[in-house]
Amino acid sequence: MSLLKNGNKRNPPSLRTRYIALTLLLGLLVISIVLFFYSDAVSTKRQVTDELVGLNAKLNKLDGVRSNLNEIYRNIDLFLLDPTQGNHAEVVHHLISDSIIYTRQLNEEFQSERSGLASTASALGEQHSALRISVADLIDSRMDVNRQYPGLALSANEMSSPQQGVSNSFLILIAEIENGDFEPKSVELYPMLLKTRSLWLSQISQMRIYLANRFASFSNEILVTQAESLDDLHLTFLNNVDTLEALYANEDSFEGPDIVAMIANESSEWINIFQQVRKISESGKWRSDSHIMKSNLIPLTDDISASILSIENLLQTQEQSVAERLRKNTETLSTLLFTIVLLFLLYISAILFSLEWMVFRPISSVAMALRSKAFNIESPELVVSKSREIDYLVEAFHQMDEQVNQRENALEHQALHDHLTGLPNRFMLNQRLEYQLLTSERNQKTFTLFLMDLDHFKDVNDSLGHATGDMLLIEVANRLATQVRKTDTVARLGGDEFAILLPDTGRDESELLAKSIFESITAPFSIGEQTINVGVSIGIVSYPVDGNDVMSLLQHADIAMYIAKRNRTSFSHYDASEDHHSLNRLGLINDLRKALTNDSLELNFQPQVDVDGTTITGAEALLRWNHPLHGFIQPDKIVELAEYVGIIHQLSFWVLDNAIAQCSQWHQQGISISIAVNLSVQDLANPSLCDQIGQLLDRHQLPSEQLTLEITESGMMENPARSIEVLKVLSSMGINLSIDDFGTGFSSLAYLKQLPVNELKIDKSFVLDMDSDESDAVIVQSTINLGHNLGLRVIAEGVEHAGLLKMVRSFGCDQAQGYLFGKPQDSVQFTDWLTRSAQHEAVLSQKVGTNNH
Ligand code: C2E
Ligand code: CA
Ligand code: CA
Repeated sequence: MSLLKNGNKRNPPSLRTRYIALTLLLGLLVISIVLFFYSDAVSTKRQVTDELVGLNAKLNKLDGVRSNLNEIYRNIDLFLLDPTQGNHAEVVHHLISDSIIYTRQLNEEFQSERSGLASTASALGEQHSALRISVADLIDSRMDVNRQYPGLALSANEMSSPQQGVSNSFLILIAEIENGDFEPKSVELYPMLLKTRSLWLSQISQMRIYLANRFASFSNEILVTQAESLDDLHLTFLNNVDTLEALYANEDSFEGPDIVAMIANESSEWINIFQQVRKISESGKWRSDSHIMKSNLIPLTDDISASILSIENLLQTQEQSVAERLRKNTETLSTLLFTIVLLFLLYISAILFSLEWMVFRPISSVAMALRSKAFNIESPELVVSKSREIDYLVEAFHQMDEQVNQRENALEHQALHDHLTGLPNRFMLNQRLEYQLLTSERNQKTFTLFLMDLDHFKDVNDSLGHATGDMLLIEVANRLATQVRKTDTVARLGGDEFAILLPDTGRDESELLAKSIFESITAPFSIGEQTINVGVSIGIVSYPVDGNDVMSLLQHADIAMYIAKRNRTSFSHYDASEDHHSLNRLGLINDLRKALTNDSLELNFQPQVDVDGTTITGAEALLRWNHPLHGFIQPDKIVELAEYVGIIHQLSFWVLDNAIAQCSQWHQQGISISIAVNLSVQDLANPSLCDQIGQLLDRHQLPSEQLTLEITESGMMENPARSIEVLKVLSSMGINLSIDDFGTGFSSLAYLKQLPVNELKIDKSFVLDMDSDESDAVIVQSTINLGHNLGLRVIAEGVEHAGLLKMVRSFGCDQAQGYLFGKPQDSVQFTDWLTRSAQHEAVLSQKVGTNNH
């Protein structure tokens, strides 16, 4: 059965390859994004830095120009204050030259830009050139007094001549009279002349005061007042001159009228020049340096400042835009960082997601399938995965599943069949009987069951050996098979006991068949060189007359067989009337009851040893009953009888009591070995079993871990739930639990896993012929592996010789039990054997060959 849904072979890519590819791809993507943004960011940053450096240099130059301008100002002021002190004019000159160089450089630098800076810079240059001219002019005018004060110069240069003329004219006129060269007729003339001359002199002094006030920088208002009073004086003066003219017209002065006319002319000229002086003096131009300053230099420097400011503003705008780019650059870098983090997160989630889908889920479904497998539950099919690794896992699971199935099938076959003859075993017969009971009941049909047992088989085994005995059994099985129909079931129940289930067979037909079987079996067998004759006794029961359940049919067939054997009638039908009678006649039941009470039962002990060495680890207690009449009765028959009549609990209690007492006694003698006691299936149904065992351990003061309870696999399987419950209690008490006759029952792995057992005991039927039968060896080996996988100790029973021990040892078995180490012996012999430990160890060493290691 394939658990892989998609059977067709395909090769999905490896997860590893996929992750490497994905990681490389994403890594490349991340790296290229990072590189892209990084190089962009770096180049932008470099560019921006370069630009900032350039801008700073320009701003520095501009600052130079500005500070030069301030220096120019300061030096001009100092120069104007006192042109003779220091070399301020020269400094100014140098400063302007420097600034012109700066502006030229700026201009060159701005040339490459498209901003309006170049034109502003060249304007700045031109402004500086103009400034140079203007400053030169200023210095010039400051150094030249005439230029410095034009009003004063005008008055000095132009007014003195008419002024002198007028003054001289008055002197001549007055002298003419005073010398007597001229005797005026009019008495008014002379005083008038004097008065007019004094008026003239007043005008001159008024004019001087005006000029003095000008230089004292009096306000224009005062100047205007003074000028007006001069004008008034002049008007009065002109009137007087007119009067003089009129007076002189009537006189016979030789030169008088002409001189007066000259006075009129020259004074007019004088006043006219004064008017010009006044115009200059009351205008801003009265002092040329301040005029140059005001009209030229200050506007120029204002322009220069404005130009500097405008360049500075433009540069600052540029600086702002650069700063903006820097900010954007930083933003880009943080976006980059964010993107990388995002990509990384995406990558991690993608990996998580794909791990979830391609690894975790498939693994958990494989794990679930494994668990389902372990508990034999139907599991959902494993879907073909998307990765090679998981496919390997699924494939490995699939292979394991097949292997387990094969082993389970083998175990199942082994569980349901007798390994020697290959016939169905007791377990399978029971199953078929159950089934037959159901169908026969439903169909109102009858069926018949034969139970038979060979006569004198024990003699064959004892005299001709085990191997011959086995071959004989196989031959018997073959002959039986030829006697029946396909629908019939021939089963071997153990030893020389066989059964045949015959569906739809009535009493008469069965009698014919019994006869023919009898003839077939009693015909001589030739095994090897031997010819062997055996007899057979057949007990016959029919459904429904002889019983309507498996148990009663089997028991009744057993009685019928016993009666056939006893009466030597080859076969016998069950007869209910004979039953009670026969059993009573056998007297076994009463005898067993008696034996139980009068202690005529016995226990034998068989050693269990460590498979590696020679240490005796424990002993199995085996029931013995030597019947006074019937002699040795097989212990399993005694148990069967006790179960049948319902005294099994007492019997088991007796065995437990004696076995625990014996073990405790060994411990007191210093021999610390454990004791194994066999329990019947029905003991598990005894509600006081656990209490009883607890009390016995207490009473004999034996630690619970020294007691092992052996329960057969089929016994545990009869009522699994109950078994688990009881075993759990026993296990919790510290008692060891062993699955006896392992391999002969049919228990699922899932069920086994739930049992709280410590040990698995491989049935001797597999061990005995293991050296000649390969399939037995395989079963033993795989059973040991199975036990170890379940965490159990494994003991092999039926180790009769050193060859078998070697085999189980090589299979890794933990312990062994068998005739090689010792046959079951009574307590006295066994204790004696134990105390001679030194000897028996030597014997054991020899037997197991450990000396050779
Ligand atoms: P078992 O529990 O499988 O016990 C082991 C049987 O194998 C014993 O037979 C033992 O004598 C035999 N044996 C041990 N070593 C070898 C060997 O090397 N070769 C061969 N051929 N046989 C070996 P025994 O004593 O006849 O007991 C038969 C069965 O009777 C036991 O099988 C057990 O199921 C049952 N039985 C014995 N004593 C008790 C008991 O006290 N209580 C219960 N409930 N059952 C018992
Ligand atoms: Ca046993
Ligand atoms: Ca056994």
